[in-house]
Amino acid sequence: MKKFAIAIHAGAETVKRKEVSKAQEKAYRKGIEEALRTGNAILKKGGSAVEAVVAAIESMENNEHFNAGRGGSLNQFGEADFDAAIMDGRNLNSGSVGSVRYVKNPIKLALEIMQHCKHAFLAGTGAEEFALRQGLELKEPSYFVTEEKLKAWHESVLEEQIAGHDTVGAVALDQQGNLAAGTSTGGLMNRMKGRVSDSPIIGAGTYANNPYCAVSCTGEGDIIMRGSIAHEVYAQVKYGGEQLQAAAEKAITMHAKFLKGDMGLVSLNGEAEIAFAFNTNLMKRGYSTDGQKPVIALWDDEEV
Ligand code: ASP
Repeated sequence: MKKFAIAIHAGAETVKRKEVSKAQEKAYRKGIEEALRTGNAILKKGGSAVEAVVAAIESMENNEHFNAGRGGSLNQFGEADFDAAIMDGRNLNSGSVGSVRYVKNPIKLALEIMQHCKHAFLAGTGAEEFALRQGLELKEPSYFVTEEKLKAWHESVLEEQIAGHDTVGAVALDQQGNLAAGTSTGGLMNRMKGRVSDSPIIGAGTYANNPYCAVSCTGEGDIIMRGSIAHEVYAQVKYGGEQLQAAAEKAITMHAKFLKGDMGLVSLNGEAEIAFAFNTNLMKRGYSTDGQKPVIALWDDEEV
């Protein structure tokens, strides 16, 4: 059997440990494990990296503990809308969706755009109409809004804060040697209406290019897109000759003078090497290689 691997993140943030309850930690670990197992099952039977990434992200979109699909962050008016992207490292094909409502699994809409749309990126009502035409599952706005996120939204509005975490992303290497990356988010809490995150922007939140690397980012999207962080990892490997972990760390720190804020990423190469890099004390993350038991970590002092 050829090498295969999947690695995921479920958001990076700077947070006091006591603000994350034991129950939350447990739910995060369980959700990450489920997503890794879902992706792994596909890779093990010879499925593609794209299929594995989409399935792993779909599982996290359906999990209300993460900021994607159900349980996503709400904008300044308390509304949920979503951004997502998928990229196929085999041929640089990609699909992105921005500010879309109603679609149960935004990552599936991104896939649909990659496979069946003449454009690379659809946003807003056009994206929603495309989802309807393609027969994707739609949900009432209330499906996406959980009590927990509504409470967090109230706090953000009262404190006039814009905060974000729990975005989900996955990178995979399949047995054919192909890489793929995907990211899905409900965006920042209390963001302006119409604001789009880094997640669907190819080269910012999401990038994959055989044989160099696949990357998915999380953190403050407004700086991630200005630093083209996902593409930077690739550039450091390809043109800078860096090893994957060094490239990932460089991408996070290199613009620190101008781009200040939380950032994290997961990356994977054709050798099944995995790199996590983040400037926060928490990044929910995990990986599994060759179908082995998933390795999961949340805090910066945990070994992965
Ligand atoms: N990157 C996302 C955004 O800017 C937030 C996150 O990663 O949690 O909306």
